[in-house]
Amino acid sequence: MSDERRALPSVSSLLETDGVRALCDRAPRTLVVDAIRLTIDAARSAPSTAPSGGEAWSAAVASALDRLSQPSLRPVINGTGVVLHTNLGRAPLPQAAIDAVARVAAGFTNLEYDVEQGARGSRYTHCAALLRELTGAEDALVVNNCAAALVLVLNTLADQRGAIVSRGELVEIGGSFRIPEIMGKSGARLVEVGTTNRTNVEDYRRAIDADTGIVAKVHRSNFAVSGFVAEASAADLGTLALERGIPFLHDLGSGLLLALEAFGLSGEPTAREAVTAAGKNGVVTMSGDKLLGGPQAGIILGSRATLDRIRTNPLTRSYRVDKLTLAALEATLALYRDPPRALREIPALAQLTCDATDLRTRAERIQASLGSSRVAVVDSEASVGGGAFPTARIPSVALAIAGDAGAIESKLRAGDPPLIARVADGRVVVDLRAIFPREDTAVVAALRGALA
Ligand SMILES: *Cc1c(COP(=O)(O)O)cnc(C)c1O
Repeated sequence: MSDERRALPSVSSLLETDGVRALCDRAPRTLVVDAIRLTIDAARSAPSTAPSGGEAWSAAVASALDRLSQPSLRPVINGTGVVLHTNLGRAPLPQAAIDAVARVAAGFTNLEYDVEQGARGSRYTHCAALLRELTGAEDALVVNNCAAALVLVLNTLADQRGAIVSRGELVEIGGSFRIPEIMGKSGARLVEVGTTNRTNVEDYRRAIDADTGIVAKVHRSNFAVSGFVAEASAADLGTLALERGIPFLHDLGSGLLLALEAFGLSGEPTAREAVTAAGKNGVVTMSGDKLLGGPQAGIILGSRATLDRIRTNPLTRSYRVDKLTLAALEATLALYRDPPRALREIPALAQLTCDATDLRTRAERIQASLGSSRVAVVDSEASVGGGAFPTARIPSVALAIAGDAGAIESKLRAGDPPLIARVADGRVVVDLRAIFPREDTAVVAALRGALA
């Protein structure tokens, strides 16, 4: 046994020191004991960094206790340049939505109570009028997320029946979410048509038979195909479905409510365009926390008759939306009544449409306060993320940090708040596009720490 290891204090001896005993006043004793154990274990596995002296030991235990006491879910700074980053929680909420959540969270609400009638109401009424107004749909239903929306539509309209989908759209959306598997679980029987690169409306027409429950189109959210390709348009499929008297599902994924062409983002249909194209038999599904910029939710748009059937499907109960989500979604949707305001106040839209020169000014300011020759302001390319505009590259500005990329990246990640950066061409890059101006001081502090 080495000298360092023999010198390690015991749990009970540390518990008796003044510094550690003081920690028991601000945290449960069991948690302090856990922190002591972690500190001793760390000292055993890295003897050269072991604390020396009573004060160093209590400081080390205090910082272990801080780590153990912090919430599991906490804010991070998004320096990745991916605005709607699924791993980082997708869309940050607008202030109006945060205020709305705070208003309903602390007390009772009319979630399922009709105040005018003095009778039982439905939670599903709350965002419906706004969604109708903003998309032109006859009716709207909000559930837990878009995957749930998809399952509910398929289960309600095509259980034990055929769901016709193009082979080019049997996609994986993200971790463990594959369209063919979801369809299988919904009870619909997958009927594949066309080929990976080409499917036309005739392929769907030929596949329709007495057993067909639905024709489905899935948005290519996270990839693009090019070359010898063809697909049936949503409008053609909507018309076909109407002709044959069957429903048509367009899983849009990202819920774009405002055209962003003026900002160089084109090729993605707005929800209103999708609703129009889908036609009278159409159902459109989309997420609340992608381009829409609100809370996690699944939005189903369609005719009143179809949505009534979905509302009364017992499965809908297991995917129901909660009041905090409805509050946040309603407030976010309300911002869209004034499009310039939506672009300003919905963080995802503000970040996507912000001018790169503004980002450069901020990057230069950060660089100046660091005063380090290891930090450079560089051109960068950001992306939308969140299953929309998969090929769009948005001009952006970043701070590139010279030095051991692995070590710098992990130091930034270990900070409070953690700064999540990108490593590109062997160097750490902190992209400004998804960093809020209010976080710039924290970025300076994080970079200063990482450079030390
Ligand atoms: C993202 C996405 C989904 C899943 O949406 P969630 O809200 O994450 O459940 C489904 N379909 C498409 C096309 C998507 O892009």
